[in-house]
Amino acid sequence: MTAVSLILLGIFLLVENLEIKYYIYLFLQKIFFSLIFVFSKILNSFLIIIKQFETSDIVGVALTLIGFYMLLRIWREREISRNSYLQNCPECGGNLRRIPRTSRQKVSGYIFGSKIKHYSCNICGYKGIKMSKK
Ligand SMILES: [Zn+2]
Repeated sequence: MTAVSLILLGIFLLVENLEIKYYIYLFLQKIFFSLIFVFSKILNSFLIIIKQFETSDIVGVALTLIGFYMLLRIWREREISRNSYLQNCPECGGNLRRIPRTSRQKVSGYIFGSKIKHYSCNICGYKGIKMSKK
């Protein structure tokens, strides 16, 4: 009697185990397929967006961006070379000390990708900046 119930229990556990495994398998399969589904949806909408642009549009946008970038580079070089030297006050020759930068200087430093230091004259109150490449 004990042996039979043990066997039955064993079979029950095996079946149960198999079923659990099967459910886990189904569950994982479901997750996997829904992931693929979502991914293909995203890819599809991305492709549709791309298709709406014609090649000439993309080339035009790219050329415009490159042009802007080159202008920014030229502007940056000019600004940096124009503001790269500041040893003493150009007004009275007094000593300079560093003061906190304004938010505008911080933003332009970020745009130009350069280091901007803000100085003020100890004697006459002149304010100026010094730029350097990072
Ligand atoms: Zn001065």
